[in-house]
Amino acid sequence: MDCSGKSAGLSRFDRMLENCCQYAVQARQEGKPIVGILCEYTPRELIMAAGAVPVCLCGGSHAMALEGEQDLPVGLCPLIKSTYGYCRAKKNPLLEMADLVVAETTCDGKKKMYELMARRKAMYVLELPQKPDDADAQTHWLRELRKFKEFLESRYTESITDDALRKAIATMNRERGLRRQLAEMMKQPCPPWTGRQLLNYKSIISGIESDLVAYERLTAKARPRAELKDRPRILLTGVPTVHGAEKVVDILENAGGLVVCMENCTGIKPIMEDVDAGAANPLEAIAKKYFYLPCSVMTANRKRIENLRRLTVDYAADCIVDMVWQGCLTYDVESWFVKELADELKLPYLKIVTDYGPSDAERIALRVEALLETAAKTR
Ligand code: SF4
Ligand code: SF4
Repeated sequence: MDCSGKSAGLSRFDRMLENCCQYAVQARQEGKPIVGILCEYTPRELIMAAGAVPVCLCGGSHAMALEGEQDLPVGLCPLIKSTYGYCRAKKNPLLEMADLVVAETTCDGKKKMYELMARRKAMYVLELPQKPDDADAQTHWLRELRKFKEFLESRYTESITDDALRKAIATMNRERGLRRQLAEMMKQPCPPWTGRQLLNYKSIISGIESDLVAYERLTAKARPRAELKDRPRILLTGVPTVHGAEKVVDILENAGGLVVCMENCTGIKPIMEDVDAGAANPLEAIAKKYFYLPCSVMTANRKRIENLRRLTVDYAADCIVDMVWQGCLTYDVESWFVKELADELKLPYLKIVTDYGPSDAERIALRVEALLETAAKTR
């Protein structure tokens, strides 16, 4: 991860890492601590309301995944290995700037990696209940967030007020709304961007005013691109495609497909719903929005399938690609339900299990070509 600022002349989001590093340096000079987060269940609003800056630290580098293997099993998910590898090698300047990392009990690999990371960085772990349909699950989560709030208050500020929470909710809702607007433009028969371009239009630090202005500008300037019209439209689901790990999106679009919707944590999953800004209790509203994120660590995770059913229609998908990082058992098993849905909807389906390395790219490309041929025939 490079903060050198050498890419002058590129668009704002092509300089995303440099922008975030500059923003973080400035924030620290103003006395605002940097707080690393590693999952979309972690409510950024709480960290922002404590006067800190939440930064996503998920690693997308193959080299750093190999670095992570020095301490972690080779068969572990590359996202976990890479995130840890950056920490081990001290190669992520934002992690180096971070005063604290907030982790969460999601998948087993992350939970255990956090124990190693905690040897190197101050860490707070949120306990996530994993049965979303249980009546008391939401109460448990709210209690966890109350504990986290108290922790942040003792570390950073005397009190996190409801007003501060409401202000953070407003910023995050604005950001989610703007990013949702960009994503929804892909519903058009001639979308203004490729999926890969859209994937670039986001930042690992939320709520930066100039990013929000850039989202508004992108929306205002968006024009239909006729050359994208006849490409097979792909709904991509599964694991997050974090910055640096866009291999599969590139293969899909280089083969002639168009990723019109990414139903994953680096796509629309975390921005589909807002926090209720008018709720009497803002912490409860935050807990509600974040808890119902449909990740495969939940059992059962029916909402993901309901969302996919709706998204295939909304985005006029011609096929479904289900991407799984090697070693991600929860998404790997959950593919069964995604395939069942694809069969029911009579949509061509391809499951891709891969890692961050380039060695399987040609083999994946061949399978993608076959998928797109079938999708083109059945349109
Ligand atoms: S896929 Fe699940 S564990 Fe990973 S960032 Fe999203 S919510 Fe968190
Ligand atoms: S992709 Fe799967 S294994 Fe990897 S961090 Fe996310 S939930 Fe865990």
